Amino acid sequence: MHEPHEAMLYDQVLLKVEHLKRYFNTPKGTVKAVDDVSFNVIKGETLALVGESGSGKTTTANVILGRYTATDGSVFYKDVEIGSMPLTKRPLWLRREIQVVFQDPATSLNPKKTVKDIIETAIRIHYPKLNKYERMERLLELLDYIGLTEDHLFKLPRELGGGEKQLVALARALATNPTHLILDEPTSSLDVSAQSRILSTLLKIQKDRGLTYILITHDLAVVKNISHRINVMYLGKIVETAPVDDIFGEPLHPYTQMLLSSIPTISEEESKMLPKGVESRGEIPSAIDPPSGCRFRTRCPFVMDVCSKEEPPLKEVVTRHFVACHLHNKNV
Ligand code: SF4
Repeated sequence: MHEPHEAMLYDQVLLKVEHLKRYFNTPKGTVKAVDDVSFNVIKGETLALVGESGSGKTTTANVILGRYTATDGSVFYKDVEIGSMPLTKRPLWLRREIQVVFQDPATSLNPKKTVKDIIETAIRIHYPKLNKYERMERLLELLDYIGLTEDHLFKLPRELGGGEKQLVALARALATNPTHLILDEPTSSLDVSAQSRILSTLLKIQKDRGLTYILITHDLAVVKNISHRINVMYLGKIVETAPVDDIFGEPLHPYTQMLLSSIPTISEEESKMLPKGVESRGEIPSAIDPPSGCRFRTRCPFVMDVCSKEEPPLKEVVTRHFVACHLHNKNV
């Protein structure tokens, strides 16, 4: 596991999500993309949100970012309720503190702007009192810190490699001096060597600056390398949450077991460590009309009668290891 560091104390909650719902009305019905989700993010940790597409992880992040407002429930950042606050209404300090790095730097960076323009614009917006020399000094410091050089200053995004583009996106996010980064599939568009460069840079930044990350990904190998805790999401719900070693060492929810058993492995030792017996089957059902009771029941090899009748609550079954499954619910 990525070891906890000094800035990380479990009683220091930076972000609190409480009974969050985000529904979308469509011609076919109401899509319950996030449906009563609660969790905390600890200052200085990396919390991964994992699950297939349609699990609600990206929608959850978009509410935290202010790109959507909550249909119901709350999101508190440092005791300020931000779930009902769209991005355009957020004060500058809040936009400075919560930044995002998107999956594909090729589309998140303006193709007509140079590296200098891209990063300097962020510095200018958030630190308007700096003069152009101070801005340049800050910009060069940032480039050096993330491993780029002055030679990159006047390049356009298309003149950079995939990893370099993502480093520029990272530098732009860091330019505001954030406390919290949302990393939305930050390595999934990159080749293996660029991936490892971005991951080691993210680890260095967190160690040096005590930043808090929410990592959204379907890539469990990435999660294992840089996360402290994992929320596994399925069809708008959290089905399991635990420290990363517990999820990989003893996954309790059949859906988590299914996700882990489908990770590609490179060695026999690695494949021996994966849970057996829960193979990927079926596809995620529609969030317009989710299955009654446990939403995973249509794909679960262990389904029981109770699973269609009662929704399993998210319960702590081992210290800091919560699971929503009747197999682990002693009251059933
Ligand atoms: Fe499977 Fe039932 Fe557990 Fe859902 S509650 S994961 S259907 S055993």
